Amino acid sequence: MRLVIAQMKHETNTFSPVPTPLARFAVGGGEPLSGDAAREACRGTGAALAAFVEQAEAAGADIVLPIAANAWPSGPVDEAAYEHMAGRIVDAVAAGCDGVLLDLHGAMVAEHLDDGEGELLRRVRAVAPTVPIGVALDMHTNLSDTMGVHSTVMAGYQTYPHVDMHGTGQRAGRALLAQLQGQARPEMAWGRRPMLPHVMRQGTHDGPNRALQARCREMEAAGALCATVFVGFPNADVEFAGLSAVVVTDGDAALARLWCDELLDMAWAQREGFVFTPEPLADSMARARKLATDGGTVVLLDHCDNCASGGTMDTMTVLGAMLDAGLQDAVAFAVFDPEAALAMHAAGVGATLTLPLGGKLAMPTLGLAGAPRMVSGRVVHLGDGRFRNRGPMAAGESNHMGPTAVLDTGGVRIVVISNHVEPHDLAAFDAVGIDPARARFLMLKSRVHWRAGLGSLARHIVECNGTGVCTSDYAALPFHRLRRPIYPLDPL
Ligand SMILES: [Zn+2]
Repeated sequence: MRLVIAQMKHETNTFSPVPTPLARFAVGGGEPLSGDAAREACRGTGAALAAFVEQAEAAGADIVLPIAANAWPSGPVDEAAYEHMAGRIVDAVAAGCDGVLLDLHGAMVAEHLDDGEGELLRRVRAVAPTVPIGVALDMHTNLSDTMGVHSTVMAGYQTYPHVDMHGTGQRAGRALLAQLQGQARPEMAWGRRPMLPHVMRQGTHDGPNRALQARCREMEAAGALCATVFVGFPNADVEFAGLSAVVVTDGDAALARLWCDELLDMAWAQREGFVFTPEPLADSMARARKLATDGGTVVLLDHCDNCASGGTMDTMTVLGAMLDAGLQDAVAFAVFDPEAALAMHAAGVGATLTLPLGGKLAMPTLGLAGAPRMVSGRVVHLGDGRFRNRGPMAAGESNHMGPTAVLDTGGVRIVVISNHVEPHDLAAFDAVGIDPARARFLMLKSRVHWRAGLGSLARHIVECNGTGVCTSDYAALPFHRLRRPIYPLDPL
């Protein structure tokens, strides 16, 4: 048995000015790995790709791994990068195989096409019309009909923070291998509802998503090969953005349809629970100061500027408010500013300097210019920004923040990084010599994933409405291609 296994993952924020060349798909830049190098790099990690490789090895299959490409979210993927990655996968399938297993995100938009995954699957199907295709997807998939038509099995994450990527690979892989071994006959049903859940209300620590995902697991326990609710990625101006579901059963198309519709109806009935209303920033800062009087750590979430939703990670609104409020004993993770990081490396540890921080990237889709902030402080740490996740999310995977520095303003220790990384793992703080548990205020440019590795540190959580292309204020997002009407943008 010969299996083509590949990874091509990107969550595209169509409002983001952050470029997405091929180099963004490889840790630390360069070209994404392939073949044995990719196989060894993913071994032992929490990726769906790793699960595919383990299952294929256990089945004694010959593995062809044309590319392992995974990028932090950003703007539309460069056309050349898309064509390179898709071309590697399609060529490998065209050379002949018995099955295909793909680790995809589900919300990829390229410069020249709105449905990155649908187009990839269409091309794969075109060169191998009878070969089963199994796909592992992120919970933030925006599901198109093209994806459904041209795949055999789809399974998505059931946790947010995503701590079950590996398990999702196992679910999709198990169903596909069962088919290849003549032990199952997958029947798949999918659908959407006209709703655009806010990311800040999508966590599975809370309702309504907790109950939806629990129902998916019940269906799998009752015999579904895979049951998935995708909450969707709203910062994407594509026709099919929003909530969807897909259920795969063994040989029972009617049951797949019934269960899929049940999940969609359940989500639709809970639509008001997915609405998030931001609080004015001044109110959040006042609340944070009051909460801090009990001595526990107050987590301040700069949720409009999360690089894991395509944020530039360099807007200074929330950090500026912290500095203006004179917060003491605070840590901010992090500001993406390669220029400032280099300036601090040139100055050296112990140096005192004043520099324009952040705000280097304009956000033309939101009509916003970059707004740096002059900041003064002492350089207290310099590093190369390399670390390996402790987990539970993306455990064992390596990260490279590039030249990294910490500036201590006297009240706030600001981490400055040169490659995007969302703070969701304690190892990121180890890499810059900071113990976040000892901070009075911990500002994170994150929405939900921080809970994976840092959630237990928070005595209090204050969601701070700043600036950025992953804003939760839908009124700020100029949608043109999204299907309308859709809740909550339109009355339904
Ligand atoms: Zn996601």
